[in-house]
Amino acid sequence: MKIFIDPGHGGSDPGAVGMNGTRESDVALKTGTELKNLLKSCGFAVRMSRETDIDVSLTGRTELANKFGADIFVSIHCNGFTNPTACGSEVYSFPGNAEAKRLSEILLWHICNGLGTNSRGVKKENFAVLRMSKMPAVLVETAFITNPDEEKMMSEADFFKKAACAMAKGICEYCGINADFPAEVKEHWAKTYLDSLIRKGYIESPNLWERFEETPTIAMILALADKITGQ
Ligand SMILES: [Zn+2]
Repeated sequence: MKIFIDPGHGGSDPGAVGMNGTRESDVALKTGTELKNLLKSCGFAVRMSRETDIDVSLTGRTELANKFGADIFVSIHCNGFTNPTACGSEVYSFPGNAEAKRLSEILLWHICNGLGTNSRGVKKENFAVLRMSKMPAVLVETAFITNPDEEKMMSEADFFKKAACAMAKGICEYCGINADFPAEVKEHWAKTYLDSLIRKGYIESPNLWERFEETPTIAMILALADKITGQ
């Protein structure tokens, strides 16, 4: 599988800038670079639209992806708004592209789950990079750089690895690949199943993971079985 990563903005275009000076172009590049390394270690072939702080045109970005013959195009951005209370994550796909929509739904869930951000939902937009890419393409708005709490989150050291890990999990799920993640981001083998059950609505408690070593009672098993067979 070939993945094309497009860190938004760069060079003369910093994108949105937070109140403490955090630049969208820098966050996108650092997140994209982490994602590239992680996906490569999982066996994906990866290209990026830019690996440094340079200008790349929108056409240039999609041309690189099309030439590479990517299976998936992921553009990484951070949101910005005049009202600093705006917060959360959203993922865009091109209107009418069902595969891109499926990818956007899976990615958004993993991003919100991994970063603890609230979901603003999947959205459709006629963005140039989504329109001109020949493969399923999505544009991720990781969080709001103009929101003080989310800007702070983006300036913390472990943010880029966390965001990249969430996106890599989403990409693996979309591709149907059970990837072997490197030790530092590797989770308990059963965590994937827990996440999946929470996402499908069978389990409500996100704190269940902390009780993971508990022995289940027959009552718990029956309740879960009823939920699953009842749908
Ligand atoms: Zn942007």
